[in-house]
Amino acid sequence: MQITEIFKSIQGESTYAGMPCVFVRLTGCNLRCNWCDSEYTFTGGHRRTLEEVLEEVKQLSAGGLVEITGGEPMLQEREVVPLMQRLLDDGYTVLLETSGERPLERVPKGVTKIVDVKCPNSGEDGTFRIENLAALGSQDEVKFVLSDRGDYEFAREFVTRHDLERRVKAVLFSPAFRKDASGERDVSHCLLDPRELAEWMLADNVPARLGLQIHKFIWDPALKGV
Ligand code: SF4
Repeated sequence: MQITEIFKSIQGESTYAGMPCVFVRLTGCNLRCNWCDSEYTFTGGHRRTLEEVLEEVKQLSAGGLVEITGGEPMLQEREVVPLMQRLLDDGYTVLLETSGERPLERVPKGVTKIVDVKCPNSGEDGTFRIENLAALGSQDEVKFVLSDRGDYEFAREFVTRHDLERRVKAVLFSPAFRKDASGERDVSHCLLDPRELAEWMLADNVPARLGLQIHKFIWDPALKGV
């Protein structure tokens, strides 16, 4: 499979935020989100066999959390599905970060899917494959990255229309981060003020949790491999 990087860091989003995690970042994405912070994954990378990836993960951590991310990892489904199964068999807790544009029904049971449903300001709304709702279960999470009130209303309606609170473990609303952010790290780098988002969520009683990308506050947002 084509790999951009494998590294250990702190999980920055999802209900696993704050936990040590090995990230396997696959090369290539079929979307072009306006605020994408991973454009360096679009091309390049290195060919790695499944065994080589497993060995590298093992060198970084003998157990615990592994996140398969990208780019869009499900573009390499033929190789990434067996990788996820092997990681599960070896006792890892496996997270899959995906846009949900590719089919998810062949993701092994036991993998926690974190599905990033694209909102209007990303420029890629409508790309979530609606059939994938049937593949979501009680351990999965659905995330919306928001940059304005229109995105928030889109996400709020999506959650209600598809009864996400009942379908999945958690619904996450997260302010988008400016992709040119670097150096100083504070909420002024968020495209949507977290306080404003919190007030909207409280006013509407949205069954979602507010998430901040904590890795962006710990390290320089422009750094790779963190
Ligand atoms: S799906 Fe992810 S990697 Fe692809 S363009 Fe959007 S934010 Fe970037």
